[in-house]
Amino acid sequence: MKSNFHTHSTFCDGKNTIEEVVLCAIDAGFDSLGFSGHGYTDFDNRYCMQNTEGYINEVKRVKEKYKDKIQIYLGVEEDMCGFVDRSRFDYILGACHYYAIDGKYYDVDGSYEHTLEALKAVSNDVIKLADNYYRRFCDYILSRKPDIVAHFDLLTKFDEKYDSIFSHNKDYHALAKNYLLYAMKSNCIFEVNTGAISRGYRKTPYPSSELLYTLYKNDGKIIVNSDCHAAENLESSFDEAIPMLKDIGFKYTYVLYDGKFTKTLL
Ligand SMILES: [Zn+2]
Ligand SMILES: [Zn+2]
Repeated sequence: MKSNFHTHSTFCDGKNTIEEVVLCAIDAGFDSLGFSGHGYTDFDNRYCMQNTEGYINEVKRVKEKYKDKIQIYLGVEEDMCGFVDRSRFDYILGACHYYAIDGKYYDVDGSYEHTLEALKAVSNDVIKLADNYYRRFCDYILSRKPDIVAHFDLLTKFDEKYDSIFSHNKDYHALAKNYLLYAMKSNCIFEVNTGAISRGYRKTPYPSSELLYTLYKNDGKIIVNSDCHAAENLESSFDEAIPMLKDIGFKYTYVLYDGKFTKTLL
């Protein structure tokens, strides 16, 4: 079954309109497609939707228009630091895009310079920074239980291209694994996100292969998403991620189909 539930459009920081993405998905033979515009964050307007009402109306319009060709779902990428009226959406993709240190937000996936600024704010203590991210994110996951947990280890986005500040730290791996096991108590579905591959930041998806192994060994639920910001990347790097997941041992993924998240063969 072809699907993607992490999809951006011109309503936030995506390149294509909702309808352009839908037409591309139909062309590619998709069965199901979920939009996940960035939920509103009042302290940072660079990426989030300014016109949530327009977004909701447009997704509903194309959902009806193309209902005989594809299933379309109205989702939102809820940042744990922002505000989303969950009752308006079919599903919630829960994310943490910010460190919060002494009342100030530092974005996690904006640029490597922002990571360095956040690091400076914790006296260059890499573990303290990772702990700030995972502790807050896990508390959100367990208390708010989004349908899908987006890019669990997003903080490692710049590791491959720059100094590998997290993955080269000997204490980071145990910390990330322990937090993942903690977050899994939520029973949420964890996203395998290929977005950073298509944008040239990473060679492998989030979460890292060792965290994926932890998910597999502990009966974690996964869903494969492209986090696409352009229609041409709708299924980008799925052809690499899926064999990798099968090698780890995964047999199943989840899809949103006929209105509910359903277990299906990978
Ligand atoms: Zn995100
Ligand atoms: Zn996203």
